[in-house]
Amino acid sequence: MLVVMQQGASKAEIAEVESLIDGMGYKPHSISGVEQTVIGCIGDERGKTRLQSLETQAGVAHVIPILKPYKLAGTELRKEKTRIEIAPGVVVGDNKIPIMAGPCSVEGLEPICEAAEFVKACGGTMLRGGAYKPRTSPYSFQGLQEDGLKMLAEARERTGLPVVTEVMKESTVDLICKYADVLQVGTRNMQNYDLLKAIGQTRKPVLLKRGMASTISEWLMSAEYIMSQGNMEVILCERGIRTFETATRNTLDLKAVPVLKHETHLPVVVDPSHGTGHWNYVEDMALAAVAAGADGLMIEVHQNPAEAWSDGAQSLNAANFGELVKNVRRVAEAVGRTV
Ligand code: PEP
Ligand code: MN
Repeated sequence: MLVVMQQGASKAEIAEVESLIDGMGYKPHSISGVEQTVIGCIGDERGKTRLQSLETQAGVAHVIPILKPYKLAGTELRKEKTRIEIAPGVVVGDNKIPIMAGPCSVEGLEPICEAAEFVKACGGTMLRGGAYKPRTSPYSFQGLQEDGLKMLAEARERTGLPVVTEVMKESTVDLICKYADVLQVGTRNMQNYDLLKAIGQTRKPVLLKRGMASTISEWLMSAEYIMSQGNMEVILCERGIRTFETATRNTLDLKAVPVLKHETHLPVVVDPSHGTGHWNYVEDMALAAVAAGADGLMIEVHQNPAEAWSDGAQSLNAANFGELVKNVRRVAEAVGRTV
């Protein structure tokens, strides 16, 4: 349910309503707009009619149901776009479009630092790199794990680029929080609800990739899991879904961008690398993503893609990445944004 306060309701009236909501066993989540405060009441759907009685409370305009199943992620509770500050000057959900780039996997200290240097020189704003890798085959490289996290932290030290890296299981959440600026949830874990809840307990921004066979609604419910635990800083990342089409690794679902703009206040990033699986399709889809309204891009790069330990076929080399950033900038400007 949503308690809409009257314009000009006092702080004391808002606090009183919050405490009554709490007393009824719901978590109050207040959003103060310029003119009005709305309070989302989050909790068990049963017995929600009790909340209706708050309409008689001083300062309350009305109490209305939130119709969508994603209460905190949806636009019923909050219309204003969420801005997530990752580091000073690096914001996701603003007019400026951040570009997260780096290798699929961290392969060593010098390689990750070299990649970070060229990402930065080309205009990239964040460094990505997997230290824990969810591989389809158990015989494939599984990641450098904690050593990889340390290398990412060193690359951040040298370049100033904030780091995004994947968390695969609950038991490593605290460890990864020590090194990362953004926790990535991969496509395979989008519906790992215990992991989502554990990440929701942290206060690190989260990049939540879309499950490869998940609907937009299921994806938003996964964001809701994280937010229900108090972590509101969720960035959605479209990375392609499974369809009958085999010409590309996945089918990048770009209409997800405008649909999400309508359904949620959370920022939306697009990953055309996993979305296509081929380096030579990445730039075109990156440009299309920005034209469609994406709030950021995630791009896999490698100094020598042919030698990459994972996902070399979809990785851009430094020259191609530089070209991508240049052209993304032009499209961003054409749609009233910057890079
Ligand atoms: C990755 O970012 O390297 C990755 C494994 O992504 P996804 O979960 O989208 O496959
Ligand atoms: Mn990858």
